[in-house]
Amino acid sequence: MAKRSTIVVATNNPGKLKEFALLLPDFQIISQTSLDITPEEEVGETFFENSLQKARIANNASGMAALGDDSGLIVPALNNLPGLHSARYAHENATDDENRQHLKAELEKLNLTEAKAYFVCVLVLINAQQDPFPLIATGMLEGRIKTVIQGENGFGYDPMFFPIGSKLSMGEIDSHEKALLSHRGKAIEILKRKITGLSSE
Ligand code: IMP
Repeated sequence: MAKRSTIVVATNNPGKLKEFALLLPDFQIISQTSLDITPEEEVGETFFENSLQKARIANNASGMAALGDDSGLIVPALNNLPGLHSARYAHENATDDENRQHLKAELEKLNLTEAKAYFVCVLVLINAQQDPFPLIATGMLEGRIKTVIQGENGFGYDPMFFPIGSKLSMGEIDSHEKALLSHRGKAIEILKRKITGLSSE
């Protein structure tokens, strides 16, 4: 089947990119990394603002439809951290492993081996800089974060996150299954329906 249209995904995170390519097979997905677009400091106070900012930067540099993804892990017992700071929880240029170790240490400071947590994802798709009608989709996944690190799949906090009712961490769940249940998977499904709704009008 011919790919319908091209979308630049405004992320340099290879884990996110894989998920977009898997979940948007009808679109030609281009990473901003391949276009040498560098991200800017995230200055928003909400996932939505950051996602829109990312999409605008990618659209400005590429002239193509651009999709921003801002997502993160929220742990109520840690005052909703890492939240907006999920990618840089340990320090500015932290690796996923450093962020996981930092999260583990913060839970242990409270004598917790696990806590309620949820992942959130806000997607914003724009066609132009001043697109007056960005398509916006959000998704959320509830579960528990644990101080164990299990599994090699996924990225970020996946090996510490256990969706409600699952004995497996997201790092142990295969990528197709994660795609169906994750915050990003849910947001992408909503976004796809909005794109289809517009194009059939
Ligand atoms: P962003 O690139 O600023 O949106 O940061 C997102 C960060 O949140 C990632 O670097 C991960 O640490 C975390 N995160 C977001 N989505 C996921 C996911 O699906 N699995 C695991 N961690 C995630």
